[in-house]
Amino acid sequence: MADEITFSSLTDLADRLAAGQLSAVEITQACINRTGAVDEQVRGFNSTDAEDALAQARAADERRAAGQSRGPLDGIPIALKDVIAVKDQPLTASSKMLEHFVSPYDATVTEKLKNAGGVLWGRANLDEFAMGSSTENSAFGRTANPYDLDRVPGGSSGGSAAVVAAGEAIASLGSDTGGSIRQPAAFCNVVGLKPTYGLVSRFGLAAFASSLDQIGTFTRTVEDAAVLLGGIAGHDLRDSTSFKTDIPDYRAALAEKKGPWKLGIPQEYFGEGLDPEVGAAIEKAIAFYREQGCEIKEVSLPHTEYCLSTYYIIATAEASSNLARYDGVRYTHRSAEAKTVEDVYFKSREEGFGPEVKRRIILGTYVLSSGYYDAYYLRAQKVRTLIRQDFLNAYQDVDAILTPTTPTPAFKAGEKADPLAMYLSDIYTIGVNLAGLPGISVPAGFTEAGLPIGMQLIGQPYQECDLLAIAHAYDSAHTWNERRPEL
Ligand code: GLN
Repeated sequence: MADEITFSSLTDLADRLAAGQLSAVEITQACINRTGAVDEQVRGFNSTDAEDALAQARAADERRAAGQSRGPLDGIPIALKDVIAVKDQPLTASSKMLEHFVSPYDATVTEKLKNAGGVLWGRANLDEFAMGSSTENSAFGRTANPYDLDRVPGGSSGGSAAVVAAGEAIASLGSDTGGSIRQPAAFCNVVGLKPTYGLVSRFGLAAFASSLDQIGTFTRTVEDAAVLLGGIAGHDLRDSTSFKTDIPDYRAALAEKKGPWKLGIPQEYFGEGLDPEVGAAIEKAIAFYREQGCEIKEVSLPHTEYCLSTYYIIATAEASSNLARYDGVRYTHRSAEAKTVEDVYFKSREEGFGPEVKRRIILGTYVLSSGYYDAYYLRAQKVRTLIRQDFLNAYQDVDAILTPTTPTPAFKAGEKADPLAMYLSDIYTIGVNLAGLPGISVPAGFTEAGLPIGMQLIGQPYQECDLLAIAHAYDSAHTWNERRPEL
């Protein structure tokens, strides 16, 4: 019974809450129990506070009893990636630098979830400061893939994906700078949505690369993603990059928009390096859409080969600037060895940051330094424009683009010791961030060895209604998301 609750979809639980068949306390307690039973193996959470979650759940039940329910998120346990601020709670970014930091305010998404009655349940592990693709770069230990504990859950939002996959939370939030929501979603058999850049406020998100970062959702179904997105999207004066746009009823759009759609298949995403089992699953998904009457068209994104290098110049440049604030002076780790002011900076940063973060800061500082700025940073910005233009050209002919989310299924922990090999695992997700587009990964099957496979759909800017409807057409006709990990 309890497992049945923790593996239910958000919308199903919302319906049962509304019908009085279940209480928020029961759901929350089921997640707490499940976490107690499996998180020792999964290690998806950096921290949890069961008492606090139960208090939130009781408040939700009291509101409902008084006829004051706040809607479908009221009483639903939702985990937050440990880079999203919650007032008076730790925010570590899985870094020693912020190990003892307690956030003095709520992120906008946190505030919105609180206002919608969501039960904030646990802080999910990640690659330190969201830099990585495996959650192995966490200073607090790696998260395991619930479908194969020797493998990675993806990253950087690996904890957020794993806790939903393992039934420890009903949904979660993560952040996606180059694939950090979609890639772990694909590795863990959950739905991962990265909204259009600017749709969701990033106020209160520990910044990595500000022109790319976007907060998004992990859920069991596309319908759940539509509901959760509706809860967090919207213009925010405290984030100057957030876009002024009306927030539609995303869930209603799933029923209203029925297709058939024109879907673009970019040849550049089906070449060398694509695992044959992943490729076969995506071909089946394409065949499904064709059977539904969709028109399938080949499209070309000719600058795809430059995505990785462009990303690793822009993202590291922005990271080197954003992470300058962690200086040992104010709220971060301060070295006990420091005797001079210079020591405070050098030793605190030396001790506080892990190797991948240091690598990025050094790279980013280099590409921004005088003499190299034009050759690297400026040029990367120009190529970025070309990459965006590729997508916009393709959208002249198609409604959305369909690709594999990742070239391979989840890899073994420790397998990608070479940073370049690790960077390559984001080859299909990074272009979407460079172009500022919305993208979603939907469960699309399993390999023979039982590893999840994800399909990526890429939409047009601010057209989340269409993107979600296209994804829902597939998701609601398949049952991959019902397969649970054996833990
Ligand atoms: N894996 C990519 C990186 O290491 C993307 C990370 C992310 O999206 N936060 O930068």
